[in-house]
Amino acid sequence: MRVLLVGSGGREHALAQTLARSPDLSALFIAPGNPGTAALGINVPIGVQDVPALVAFAKEQQVDLVVPGPEAPLVAGLADACARAGLACAGPSAAAAQLEGSKSFTKEICDAAGIPTAAWERFTEAAPAIDYVRAKGAPIVVKADGLAAGKGVVVATTVAQAEAAITDMMTGGALGDAGRSVVIEDCLVGEEVSLFAFCAGETATLIGAAQDHKRIGDGDTGPNTGGMGAVSPPKGFGPAEQEAALDLLVRPMLREMARRGTPFRGVIFAGLMLTDKGPSLIEYNVRFGDPEAEALLPRLTSDLLPALKALAEDRLDTTPITFSDQASVCVVMAARGYPGEPEKGAVIHGIDNANALEGVHVFQAGTRQDMAGELIVAGGRVLAVCALGQTVAEAQARAYAGVKAISWPGAVWRTDIGDKAL
Ligand code: ATP
Repeated sequence: MRVLLVGSGGREHALAQTLARSPDLSALFIAPGNPGTAALGINVPIGVQDVPALVAFAKEQQVDLVVPGPEAPLVAGLADACARAGLACAGPSAAAAQLEGSKSFTKEICDAAGIPTAAWERFTEAAPAIDYVRAKGAPIVVKADGLAAGKGVVVATTVAQAEAAITDMMTGGALGDAGRSVVIEDCLVGEEVSLFAFCAGETATLIGAAQDHKRIGDGDTGPNTGGMGAVSPPKGFGPAEQEAALDLLVRPMLREMARRGTPFRGVIFAGLMLTDKGPSLIEYNVRFGDPEAEALLPRLTSDLLPALKALAEDRLDTTPITFSDQASVCVVMAARGYPGEPEKGAVIHGIDNANALEGVHVFQAGTRQDMAGELIVAGGRVLAVCALGQTVAEAQARAYAGVKAISWPGAVWRTDIGDKAL
C-alpha cells in the first residue's frame, strides 16, 4: 500500500514508525514530515493545511490511503476532498470534525445523546455572558467556541478572571473569530485522562488511555503547553474502565452523529474528567493526541496499516486491533523558553544511544537537519523520549535513562512524568 501521512510532529514520527513495520506498506510519503520521518519514508514539502496540494500529490502518486495526523487539515476538509477524488482517508469529514472545531457543537451532541458533561451555556454577546458568570460564581470555565490551539480555555478561579477572559475573547478579539462566541461551563474536579478509539460509523474499537501532562513545570505548575509527557495506562483507569467510558461517552456520540447524517470516521480522542460522580466529557478531538500517540503506538501488537485502511472504508469490525498490556511513559524534551519563544539552533546529541536502550523509542518533533547532517533544535517541543516496561516504574526508569543519554544546551523536561501513575 502507498500511504500519505500528513503532519510534522512527534505524533507523526510515531505513526510513521508504526506504519513502517507493516508488511503491506510499499511507499510512505510524509507531508511535510521531519528528520525523524525522513528516515522512514519520503518527506514532501506540502503544508498540512494545503488541502488541494495534498490531494493532488496523493492522486499523482496513486496513494492508497491518506492518514491525517493533526486536526487542522480535517477541519479544512481534507477527508471530503479525498472522498471527491476517490482517495481513502482515515479521518472524519469537515462536518464530523466539528466535534473538535466547535465547542458548542460538541455540547449540543452531548445533550442530545445523554452524554455526561459540565452544564453549559453559549453566548454571542459579552454582557449576558458576564451576567451569567456573576450569577454562577467561580470557579467557572470560559472557552472560545472555535479552535484556538489550546489557548482558548480559561479555568477562572474568580469571577473577575472570568469577566476578563470574556472581555478579551469577545470584545478584545484576542483569539480572532474563534472567540467571537464563547461557551461557559461549570468547573469539573478530578483526574483528567484521554481515551482513544478507532471509529467508523457506529462501530468503535478501544485503543487505550493515557494521561497527558499539560503544564511546563514539575507538579503541574507554570503555563500550559502542547503536552510535556504522557503515561499509559493512567492509574485506576484500566481496560474495564476504558470500555465503560467508551460506552458512556463515545458510542452514544457515534449514534447521534450517524443519526444526523454526519457519521464519524477516524480516531476519536475523548478528554474526560474522572469526577466523584463518574467520568464526564471535557472535549472530543478528532485525531491522536501528541504526546499520547507516542506513548500508545509502541504498544500496538497488530498491524496499524490494514486497520487504518479498514477504518477509511467503514469496515473496522473486520480488522483486529491488539495492544500489549505493557506500561508506557513518554517524556517530552523541549527547548529553553518554551512555551514562549524557544531557543533554537543548538546541536542535539545522543539520540542513537537513547534508542539503543531496551524499550526506548525517541520521536522527533521540533528538529531539522543542517547542511553538515547535524540534528538541530528547530521548535519548542523537540523530542518525545518514550519507553515501554512491564510496570509504570520500569517504563519511567527507561524513559528517563533515554532522556539522560540525550543532550543539547538549553534542553528542558519535566522530571515527574509517570509519578502519578506509580
Ligand atoms: P483549544 O480550543 O484552545 O485548542 P482545548 O481543545 O485544549 O482548547 P479543552 O480541552 O476543552 O480545550 O480545555 C482545555 C483544558 O482546560 C482541559 O484539558 C482541562 O484541563 C481544562 N478544562 C476544560 N473544561 C473544563 C471544565 N469544565 N472543568 C475543569 N477543567 C476544564
